Amino acid sequence: MPASQEPLLNLAAWVPCTEVEGPGRRFALWTQGCLLRCPGCCNPHMFALAPRWIVPVSQLVKEIAQAREQFHIQGITLLGGEPVLQARSLAVLARECRRAELSVMLFTGYYLEQLQEARFPGVEELLAVCDVVVAGPYRRELPETRRNWAGSANQRFHYLTDRYGPEIETDPRFRPAIEIRFHPNGLAMWNGWPVVAATKKPPSRPLLEEDASCQPEAAPQESACPPPCSPQLRASAHC
Ligand code: SF4
Repeated sequence: MPASQEPLLNLAAWVPCTEVEGPGRRFALWTQGCLLRCPGCCNPHMFALAPRWIVPVSQLVKEIAQAREQFHIQGITLLGGEPVLQARSLAVLARECRRAELSVMLFTGYYLEQLQEARFPGVEELLAVCDVVVAGPYRRELPETRRNWAGSANQRFHYLTDRYGPEIETDPRFRPAIEIRFHPNGLAMWNGWPVVAATKKPPSRPLLEEDASCQPEAAPQESACPPPCSPQLRASAHC
């Protein structure tokens, strides 16, 4: 494919293996840019529709394949920011993942019917290769207390294939937790349950580095609050 036609993604962050952004170990990526501005959003640094980390989809496909080999991930999770604003390129990525038998989980701030009306380019193609979609804006007055991964009680889970079902929403193996990654340069990145994450300070800048946890045989993270680190870099919004 000529370089000019290479699908690109504008990302805020990604991690090759996380256990708190969907069922099992997953490659998670956060897209840059969101139009919704939900009050209380824990990722305001991902609002701007401006270039952040421009990454070719082909590079991510390779990194996901590597993560599969190294960490035995079972799928990818797309978060933001608002992923559907980059649905065309995400559809290409997600299709490649599905070909490799990886599952695809999408968090979007729009309800499905809004997506159908808004007709963001590529959304139909993206939804066609998603296994589960968590849809709806974050509403801080309705904090989620029962279901895994959802930030607020208005958000809806949609199962578009039979790979997962509603039992994952309350499966205790996936109970709400956060992960924190410390890096040799003194910075840290954390992600996970937004109700926990919302208590933290805003990030100072993005961080894209090698995953420091999630070793191939690592036990699931405990949900205990991590010690404070400074500065804190956040990449989490289940919206
Ligand atoms: S919660 Fe999600 S949809 Fe809402 S403003 Fe934040 S990133 Fe956008």
